Amino acid sequence: MIDGWRILWDMAVPLAFFFAAGALFAAGERWRPLRSVDKRSGRQLDIIGFAVTYGSGGLFLAVFTEFANSIGPDPLGLATLPWIISIPLFFLVTDLLRYWAHWAMHSQRLWAIHRFHHSVAELYWFSGNRDTAAHTALLIVPSAVFAWLMDMPAVVAQFNLLLQILWNHVMHCNIALPAALSRAIETVVVTPRLHELHHSLLPALRDRNFGSVFSFWDRLFGTYVPPDSVDRSGLGFGLEPQDRTPPLRMVLGL
Ligand SMILES: [Zn+2]
Ligand SMILES: [Zn+2]
Repeated sequence: MIDGWRILWDMAVPLAFFFAAGALFAAGERWRPLRSVDKRSGRQLDIIGFAVTYGSGGLFLAVFTEFANSIGPDPLGLATLPWIISIPLFFLVTDLLRYWAHWAMHSQRLWAIHRFHHSVAELYWFSGNRDTAAHTALLIVPSAVFAWLMDMPAVVAQFNLLLQILWNHVMHCNIALPAALSRAIETVVVTPRLHELHHSLLPALRDRNFGSVFSFWDRLFGTYVPPDSVDRSGLGFGLEPQDRTPPLRMVLGL
């Protein structure tokens, strides 16, 4: 039996972190904006996206936790590695799982459940949460299964969730990092100017740079576009008119 209050309680820390970090990113966006952004134009859909992502995410995690608890820890006997190996491996594998899920959602078959995310025309920290329930499931359930199979301590799984929230803010925020800093950290992690290309109207850029936290998966699998190779001056975001569907269909992923 799923307890609604329990879901809210479990989500209290991620939600508090979401808004506390968001306040810092909002301040950074006023200080060093990367683009000229009209936050009001898409605010309604941004709020709906946030509610769907965190509502469905909390529900999926609660249902999966009930299921895992009913079976017990380490069901396949895989949790034999020392923590010094299994914890870094957990962060790497879950990020790789998110890379492949994102790559798969750009296929024709799954595009409908990801279209909502790409409907953002005005990119800023809060707009990066337009995910359908199916999109959210594909991003978080495989990681939850892996955490269960590897018998990860709850605090490590929670830290991984907070890292995803933080990096979702980072990659969608409207903050112009110094170019030298961006170049230096882009060899390892996704930056705002790197993920911005992924939200481009141009399919040649949109079907690239799938990384969530780490950028090296894109280099490894040949889907990386270096930000310095692109002229940002004419960059547009969102969906082409022929790719748009009514908002309700988009939110439902139909
Ligand atoms: Zn995408
Ligand atoms: Zn995005």
